[in-house]
Order: sequence, then structure tokens, then C-alpha cells
Amino acid sequence: MWQEFVSLFFPRVCISCDRALNSVEEHICLPCRLGLPLTNYHQIKDNPIAQKLSYTANVKQAFAFLKYYRKGIAQKILQELKYQGNSDIGILMGEWFGEELVNSGMKSDFDVIIPIPLHSLKQRRRGYNQSEMIAQGLENRLDARMRVDILSRKVYTETQTKKGKSERWTSTVEIFSVDQSVSLSEKNVLVLDDVITTGATVESAVITLQQLDPKSISVCALASGQ
Ligand SMILES: [Zn+2]
Repeated sequence: MWQEFVSLFFPRVCISCDRALNSVEEHICLPCRLGLPLTNYHQIKDNPIAQKLSYTANVKQAFAFLKYYRKGIAQKILQELKYQGNSDIGILMGEWFGEELVNSGMKSDFDVIIPIPLHSLKQRRRGYNQSEMIAQGLENRLDARMRVDILSRKVYTETQTKKGKSERWTSTVEIFSVDQSVSLSEKNVLVLDDVITTGATVESAVITLQQLDPKSISVCALASGQ
């Protein structure tokens, strides 16, 4: 009742098309959900992300939920998630992503999900790590468990808007460290980033995590630049 009253004055609208949401829709309306630009990379082994990573990092699978392009819905989702404090949309997207994977028979393919960490200063400023929100949603749908205590970020990178540039820069520096006391042997690890552009960030994380000798490492993102 109160919510209906509030929504008279502050109608909840779709972040993509501004249409008013009905009571069962959250953040994105049904027509926009049905029109999401899916990559289906989890069904295409030799996809652009896998190709980017194939030379340096030994990755079992690489995939992303959505295609990222300027002014597209994935960009709007990431803006909400990263700059508007809308952490809930990250969890929801992780759940939708997870449903896609479950539908493809991948419910039990991974044991551990590791979201790409933010530097602690940046996380304090934002209040949360956006990749952790997406990973939480995935954890809600898959048999895997999220771990945020294994990988940490040593290097503070300021630029998020110029991610392409900063990613290229970070590719030459070791930006992550691992907790050496953790064992990942016999674990199928899924590394998750919010968006993959050049692939350098996840590549650096994969190389660092290989120190813990997991059974396999796969990589995924909510959105992919290609
Ligand atoms: Zn919409």
C-alpha cells in the first residue's frame, strides 16, 4: 500500500527505456530483458575473450553475459552499478547470468567464484565491489561458492572511465596478490570481472591465481567489449 503510494510520485522506471515498471519487474522491464544483447560465449569455445587470453593465460573457459557497446543496455547497467550506488542490479544481473549458465548445463562446472577485487581505498569510497555483487548473484544460481579472501589488489588505479588505457598499463605490472596459505588444488575456479575490454586485468588475475595451482581457471564478465 505504502509502496504503491510512493510509486505514484516516484514511479520505478526501467533503467534502459524509462518505461514504468510493474510490481514484479526489478530495474529492467520485461521487453528490455527479452532484448538483452547476449553474447552466448559460454556456448562458443573459440570466442573473442578466449582468443585474447589464449597466448598468455591458461584458461579453460572464457565467456561474458552481455555485449558492451556505447549507449547500450550493458553500459547503462554498469553505470547504475558502479556510479549510482545501485548494488542490487549487480546481484540481479548475476542471477540472470547464472540462469543462462544453468540452462546450458553449467550449474556445477565451478567450485569457487573469485570476483576481481578493487583496491581497498576504492572499495571504501564506492561502498562495495561491483564485481562482488555480480558474483553474489551467480552464487545464488550455481553450485559454486564466492571467495573474496584469496585475491587482493596491490596497485591503486585511478582511471575507471579510461579502463582501456589503465588495463594496458596494468598488464605490465603485477597488480594482484594471493593468500599463499589457501589451497585451490582440485578446485575449478571462475574469475569474474564486471567488464572485459582488453582482457589485461583478468589475465593478470589469472596469472597470479595460478600460483595456487587450481585444477582449472575460467574467466567471465557481466559484459564484454567484443
Ligand atoms: Zn525497458
